[in-house]
Amino acid sequence: MKTVTLIATGGTIASTADRAGGPVNAGVAGARLLDTLHDRPEGIGVRVEDFEAVGSYALDLETVHRLCARIDACLADDDVAGVVVTHGTDTMEESAYLADLLVTSDKPVVFTGAQRHAGAPDTDGPRNIADAIRCAATEGLRGQGAVILFEGDIHAAREVTKAHTSRVDTFRSIGLGKLGEVDGGAVHLYRRPMARRTITAPRLDAGVELILLGLGSTPDYLDYCASSGKTGIVLAAFGRGNAPKGFADRIARLTASGIPVVVASRCAEGRTMPIYGKDSGGRTLDDAGVIFAGALSPIKARLLLAALLGAGADQQTIRAAFADAT
Ligand code: ASP
Repeated sequence: MKTVTLIATGGTIASTADRAGGPVNAGVAGARLLDTLHDRPEGIGVRVEDFEAVGSYALDLETVHRLCARIDACLADDDVAGVVVTHGTDTMEESAYLADLLVTSDKPVVFTGAQRHAGAPDTDGPRNIADAIRCAATEGLRGQGAVILFEGDIHAAREVTKAHTSRVDTFRSIGLGKLGEVDGGAVHLYRRPMARRTITAPRLDAGVELILLGLGSTPDYLDYCASSGKTGIVLAAFGRGNAPKGFADRIARLTASGIPVVVASRCAEGRTMPIYGKDSGGRTLDDAGVIFAGALSPIKARLLLAALLGAGADQQTIRAAFADAT
């Protein structure tokens, strides 16, 4: 019989309302979550660990770094075929991407959660957990990196994003599509994700800021970043990787002082590329020393930079890692 370890971290899947109409809070233990399954996958034993019991909006990089180490420790056990992590949906794509980067084992790592809390009569949690357990025990998901199983769909951590605030089919791999699905208790895989890149990072650098640009945004916040000891900046920039007036000059100061500035795009699909000139088109930002994130989303670019800085990577290594990431 195969064995899967379920690591519970909290999230809506483990939450209930304190009273009718009251705030919804995490607190349901992993063993209790397992008890709620309507159809427990046959032939798969499940070990349960309670790692955290919080909404994923309250997690931080240090905790998720520890979670990744714990996943690896579980997977080092020859008896364990894979790991399921129950997690809030808000930052699930981030923790899953960090697991993709940091976990060294090639056994399946499957994140799942719920959009309707454990106290709701139509909670989506039990079915998601049962399907995630099936995925974690699936040989075909070995070597594919961390995935998210949600509403029957299997998505690569690198590609997936939370696309809807409340619907149960919230996770999408926009422009790329899912890896497979679970239907009637059977796991079907349709494609493989791109080759996985892992990083050995003893810590994640929490000094990396993510800045979302809007029409006419000012670069003032960059000065704050420089004066307050921030270690890296990721811009969620326009289109191909362009910024409003004034950014290139301030960025040049940051990059000259050794602070890496990564340019990702606000667009959900496509790659960044230095094309446009003047103040502050992508070509000008390129001249100012930025690193382009390719097709990596701003949220995930921040995590990659945090992992690289945590690993002590120099500018050249960071540049090469981003070129290789997508
Ligand atoms: N809405 C979130 C969830 O789905 C809350 C959280 O991220 O924990 O779990």
